[in-house]
Formats: sequence, C-alpha cells, structure tokens
Amino acid sequence: MTTASVILKPKRAQPFFARHPWVFAGAVASVDGTPADGDEVILRSSAGNFVARGLFNSNSKILVRLYSWDEAKPLDRDFFRDRLAEAVKLRHDVLKLNHGPAAAYRVCFSESDRLSGLVVDRYGEFLTAQFTALGLAKRREMIADILRELLQPRGIYLRTEKGIGKLEGAELRDEPLWGEVPPSEHVIEENGLKFAVNLAEGQKTGYYLDQRDNRAAVARLCAGKRVLDAFSYSGGFGVYAAKVGAASVDCLDASEAALALARRNAELNGVTLTATKADVFKHLGTLAEEKRQYDVVVLDPPKFARNRAAVPEALKGYRRLHQLAMKLLAPDGVLVSCCCTGLIAMTDLEDILAQVATDAKRDTQILERRGPSADHPVNVACRESGYLKCIVSRVM
Ligand code: SAH
Repeated sequence: MTTASVILKPKRAQPFFARHPWVFAGAVASVDGTPADGDEVILRSSAGNFVARGLFNSNSKILVRLYSWDEAKPLDRDFFRDRLAEAVKLRHDVLKLNHGPAAAYRVCFSESDRLSGLVVDRYGEFLTAQFTALGLAKRREMIADILRELLQPRGIYLRTEKGIGKLEGAELRDEPLWGEVPPSEHVIEENGLKFAVNLAEGQKTGYYLDQRDNRAAVARLCAGKRVLDAFSYSGGFGVYAAKVGAASVDCLDASEAALALARRNAELNGVTLTATKADVFKHLGTLAEEKRQYDVVVLDPPKFARNRAAVPEALKGYRRLHQLAMKLLAPDGVLVSCCCTGLIAMTDLEDILAQVATDAKRDTQILERRGPSADHPVNVACRESGYLKCIVSRVM
C-alpha cells in the first residue's frame, strides 16, 4: 500500500520546511490518494518535493500534523519509540530530574517534544496520557506499550481534554489505558514536599507540574511573610510558602475539590494555611475593602483566551487582577504574576504591570522573568509551545 501524499498550494511550504508541525487545510491544494483519518501521509510542495511525514485527520482544522522530516523512515513503532526515548532522555539525562519512586514530571509535552498531540506526565509509579490528536489517539495502545518499555509504570491512565471529540473527531474517555488504576489519593514528591494528586479526577492531568520551579523561586521570598495564593488549586505555592515559615498563608480557589486537596497537602507537609472558596475577582475586592495587607500575592489564573478574538477581554481580566493585587500589597510587597495564556506575551504582561503600577503610584521592579520548568520546553520551530510566563516583582 503506498502512502498518500498531501500537496501544498504554491508558496505555502516554507513553514513546514522550517518544521512547524501544523498543516491547516487552507494551505493544502490536493490530496493524492484516499488516506483514512489517522493514516500516515507524505506532505509535498506544489512541485511535488518531499517536505515531511505526518498523520492525516479530515475532522480537524489541522489536516496534517507533522512528525518527521526524514523521507527514509516511516512513522512506525520504531519512530515513536525513538521520539519518546528522546523525551525521556531530556528529563533523565540532560535535566537530571529526580526519577525516584514518587517523582513527578512531564515526560512528553506535545509539540515541545516533537509529538504534536501527546502529553504524558509521570506521577511516581503512574503515568497519565492525554491525546489531543486523532492520529496519536488511534495509536494509543502502541504508545502505552512504548511507555511501559521505557518507564515501567504500574499503570497508565487516560485523561481527555474537554471538546477534543469535536476538534479532532476522537472519541476518548477518562479511563485506564493500561495496568493498575491509580488510587484516588496518590502522593508525589516535589522539591522535598508531598502533594496528593488525584490522577483520575484532578484538573488537567492531575497537577500543575509546570509551576514546580516557580513555586520554589517564590518560596525563597516567603519566610516570615503574609502570603496570598490566589487561584491556588491544590495549594502549590501556598504549601511551599508555609513550609519555609510564612507568617500566614491564605489560599483562594473557586473549586471545593481543589481546596480539599490544598488542605490535605498542608496536612501532609505539617503546615497550616486557610483555604477559602471564592471567586478571586470578587474576593480580592472584599479583602481590599477590609484593608487587608499581604507581603506576597500570587496570581495564577487559568487560561483566559483560547483564540485571538478573546485576547482583549483576557487582557482586561489580567489588568483587573493586578489592580486588585496592588491594593492588597504592603510596601515592598512581592507580586507574582503568572499567565498561562499562550496568546498573551511576556511583554503584554509587563505592559499591564507597568500601567497598573503607575496608576497606583507604586514604583515596581521586576525581579525575575520566569517560564515553566524545563520539562516543559519550548520548541523553537513551534513557538506556540511556550505559554507560561511568571513575573516576580517588588512593589514599593
Ligand atoms: N497555582 C496552582 C494552579 C492554578 S490553576 C498550582 O500551583 O498548582 C487555576 C485555578 O484557578 C484552578 O484551580 C481553578 O479552579 C481556579 N479558578 C478559575 N477561575 C477562578 C475564579 N474566578 N476564582 C477562583 N478560582 C478560580
């Protein structure tokens, strides 16, 4: 059986020679052959030259996702094994992340690891896998088999992203993909702290691993301080702060399940904090009216915009949060502004900080411009793979 070819329109091949993995239908002139959804195809320029190998999906706006620029090697098990082994090598050999029995890190981060549509996280002896591409979802048994070979987990749990059925035509459910089902409370270790993670029901794939280094960086500034952890989820920033001896830690989140985890995590680490269910936008206003003061305020909201049209409203949201935080910060306070909206750049966040600081007449210094932990790398060929910004500033 010959592999079908997807032929690009004239002058549309450059991004793909530059190894961007997303081929939108608008760039395609024709399809030579009748590939089924999920099948391997060869991407060719309008002149018929080989560009790359990818997986076809007529259900998706991304008609072909590209995985290899090597004409000689098909996208078979060996290919995916090599790719996943490269991803594991980064975490184990290059970054030398702890890979002891309770270690937690991202094993594979989609485009960042040249596997568009596959996220794998390791939580101790269990893995979670999330497929956001039909082509890889169809190969999930094979991928599970490779992960077993590389990492010997006790179980692999499948997590699905909302709306993926519609976007990709992939029918997936949260369920065990292979092996043992993880216990509902599974405790992992991060920088010597313990965190309970619910792999089957927690947010995202269970825990926000991308903030690991930022939590440690912020903790360095929290000893003896009054800390507000807004959008706390399971209390990541708050637990770190309490552990280094913060004077007080208040966590805020809209989700009761998240707060229950935050309380449990405080208990697991022998620290105390308050965990309050609230809409952060409203509650920060209430705290300001009560003239409450904090020395450290962490803002780590969820993604505010999924497309360009939503960006102006998202920027307003970030501005509002920063205005409220300024009111709560004591002189010399530390503001931690996190933004996981990929469509908003570090410079946009700095602009907001500058405007809000000027309006509040508070001189402000950026102490650190940070990104996600290095197990969430950015693929320079697909800069969309960089999304998390974290600015630590001193508000005088
Ligand atoms: N800081 C966390 C991750 C935060 S994820 C960590 O280090 O792990 C974002 C959190 O914001 C989620 O837990 C979600 O429940 C919460 N959230 C979303 N909108 C909210 C709102 N308006 N008010 C309060 N919490 C909200």
